[in-house]
Amino acid sequence: MQSLMMDFQLTLNAIMRRAEMLFRNQEIVTRQPDKSYHRYTYGDWIKRTKKLALALRRLGIKDGERVATFCWNHYQHHELYYGIPAMGAVLHTLNLRLGPEDLGYICGHAEDKVLVIDDNLLPLYEKFKDKVKFEHIVVLSRDGQVPEGMLDYEKLLEAEDESQFEYTDWDENKAIAMCYTSGTTGQPKGIVYSHRSMVLHSMAGAMTSVLSLNDEDVVLPVVPMFHVNAWGIPFTTVMCGGKLVYPGPHMDPQSLLEAYVAEKVTVTAGVPTIWFGMLQILDKDPKAYDLSTIRSLIVGGAAAPKSMIEGFQKRHNLKVVHAWGMTETSPMGTISNLKASLADLSEDEKYDYRAKQGFPCPMIELRVRGEEGLVASDGKSMGELEIRGPWVASGYYKLEESSDRFTEDGWFKTGDIATLDEQGYMEIKDRSKDLVKSGGEWISSVDLENELMGHEAVAEAAVIAVPHAKWQERPLAVVVLSEGKSASRDELTEFLAKKFPKWWLPDDVVFVKEIPKTSVGKFKKLVLRETYQNHLMG
Ligand code: AMP
Repeated sequence: MQSLMMDFQLTLNAIMRRAEMLFRNQEIVTRQPDKSYHRYTYGDWIKRTKKLALALRRLGIKDGERVATFCWNHYQHHELYYGIPAMGAVLHTLNLRLGPEDLGYICGHAEDKVLVIDDNLLPLYEKFKDKVKFEHIVVLSRDGQVPEGMLDYEKLLEAEDESQFEYTDWDENKAIAMCYTSGTTGQPKGIVYSHRSMVLHSMAGAMTSVLSLNDEDVVLPVVPMFHVNAWGIPFTTVMCGGKLVYPGPHMDPQSLLEAYVAEKVTVTAGVPTIWFGMLQILDKDPKAYDLSTIRSLIVGGAAAPKSMIEGFQKRHNLKVVHAWGMTETSPMGTISNLKASLADLSEDEKYDYRAKQGFPCPMIELRVRGEEGLVASDGKSMGELEIRGPWVASGYYKLEESSDRFTEDGWFKTGDIATLDEQGYMEIKDRSKDLVKSGGEWISSVDLENELMGHEAVAEAAVIAVPHAKWQERPLAVVVLSEGKSASRDELTEFLAKKFPKWWLPDDVVFVKEIPKTSVGKFKKLVLRETYQNHLMG
C-alpha cells in the first residue's frame, strides 16, 4: 500500500520562502576588506537574490549551466549561493588556494559559463585566465570600477526589478552546486549536490544532537565558502533563522576574535589551524576578549587533538565540538557530541570521546572494512571507513572510472582508516590517501614525488606528511640521489617551485641511501612517517 502523503519537493525555494516569511529582519553581517562591518537583513538579501537570479537569466544563462564563484566569505557570495540555483543554474565555488593549472582544469571540466569574482582576487585570475574562456566575468567591485570587458555585479542587480521573480518548482534531485575535491590523487574530481541533499543536510545539521542551531544563534563560518559549501552553514543557518557573520578576507585568529566580540557570535566553525592560533592568543591574555556568548567552536577538516579540546575548555571555558566530513559527504558525516548515556564517564574519558570524530548524523550510516571484510565495532578493529546517506555522492562528475571508490552495494569508500566503537563513535586512525593536509588544504604527495623524480639528479623521492605545530601537517621529501649526481635541498625546492604554489613546497628535503619498500615495490610510507615524525617539530 502506498502512502497518501504529498510528494513535496525538498528545495531551496522552501528555505528562501520561510526566511522571507519568518525572519525578514534577521541580520547578515560582513567584515569588509577595510575591516568595517557591512550589515543588512534577510529581507534585503532575498530582494537582491531575486534580482541576481533575474540578472543571470538576462545574461543568457540557461538551466543547469555552471556559474563559478571566486570569492571570500561575504554577503554577495551568500546571494550567489541562493540566486544561482534559484534561476536553475549550478553554483560552482572555486578554491582560491589552488594553483593556476588546477583552476584551469576545473573550470574547463565543469564548463563554467560565468565567473563571479571579488575585485581583490583579480590578480589571481590573471594567473589562470589563459587557460579558461568564460562567456562573462562579473566583478564584485567596491568602487564601481571594473576592468574592460567585465561586468559590475551591482549594476547588473540595479537593472532588475525583484517583483518580476517567480519561484520555479524544481525537481528536488536537480543539481544546485558543485565543488571539486583534490582530496585524492590524480585530477580534482567534481561532486554535484542537489536541492534534496542540501535540504536534508541542513535539517540534520540544525538538530540538537548535531549543531543545535536556532534563530537566537549568531553563526560565523571561518571555513571558506569555497570549501564544501562552507560546511552547509549558509543553508542551515538560514533554515533556522540565525544571524550570519561573514569574516570577508579576515580569517586570521586576531580578526576573528574581534568579530566574535563585536557581533556576539554563538557558533563558529573552521579547521584546526585557526584554533591553534587562537588558543595561543587567548593563553597569552585570557581576559582580552569577552567570548562568553560562544557556545561551540566546530572543528573539522582535520583532527582536533584532545589537548586542544581540553585547552579551550579548561582554560577558557570554550566548547570545541569535533566533526568529520568530506567534500563527497556535503560534508557533515559525524559529530562528537556526548551522548546522554556517557554522562557518568570520568572527565578524562569524556575528553577521549570528544576527541574522536564522533557519531554519524541522523540518516548517515558508517561501517569499517578490514582486509577480510567488515570488522567489529569494538573501538579497536581498524579498516577503511565506508559511508552512505542521502547527502553522500554516488559518483564523480563526468568521470566514468570512479567505481573503485564505491562498493558493489553502493557505499562510498572514504579512504580514511578508522575504528567504530560499541557506542557508535568513529575515530580516524590514519589515511590511505596519499596526501598531506596542511592548514586544511590538500597537497598531493604523489604530484610532488613525480615532479621530483623528473629532476636529473633524483633517483627516487617519497613525500610524506609530517606533524607540524601550526599547519598540523607539512610535506617532507625523502630523496635518493642518482649515482654520481648531486643536488641541494634549495635546488630541489626551487625546481618544485616552478610547478607548484609556494605552500606546497616541502619544508625540508632529507637525503637517504634507500627508501624502504613493500614486497610489491611501493614506498613504505608508514615506516617513513614513523622515522620522521619529529623532524619538523624539532
Ligand atoms: P575534504 O574533502 O577536503 O573536506 O577532506 C576530507 C578529508 O579530510 C577526510 O576524508 C579526512 O581525511 C579529513 N578529515 C576531515 N575531517 C576530519 C577530522 N575531524 N579528523 C580527521 N580527519 C578529518
